[in-house]
Amino acid sequence: MEDREKSEFQKQLFELRARILQILEIKNSYAKEYNPLKDSRDEADLGNATLDMELELSSKRTLQETLEMVEKALKRLETGTYEICEICRRKIPLNRLKSIPYTSYCVECQTKLEHTGQ
Ligand SMILES: [Zn+2]
Repeated sequence: MEDREKSEFQKQLFELRARILQILEIKNSYAKEYNPLKDSRDEADLGNATLDMELELSSKRTLQETLEMVEKALKRLETGTYEICEICRRKIPLNRLKSIPYTSYCVECQTKLEHTGQ
């Protein structure tokens, strides 16, 4: 992977981490009154609307799990194993990393994991 691509992924991951932390904070402070659907409709900036929606509708547990995956991906970028699948050690296709920058597995291994319920 080229350095340019690497720093692009790094930037994306940093932004994602900041966003998740922000949403976790909102969720913590508003607790049950917080209504993600209503609140996001009021937002003018719809740049990352889909991802934001997805994140805002996620449970705290899912957010924390995603956060852990983001942290792990950042470490993988540093150690140069970012594009290697953790299970089969094959290269994860670039397109897959572009749509899910925090994944550690190729599509096949991910599917297997989901089927075994992990
Ligand atoms: Zn794999």
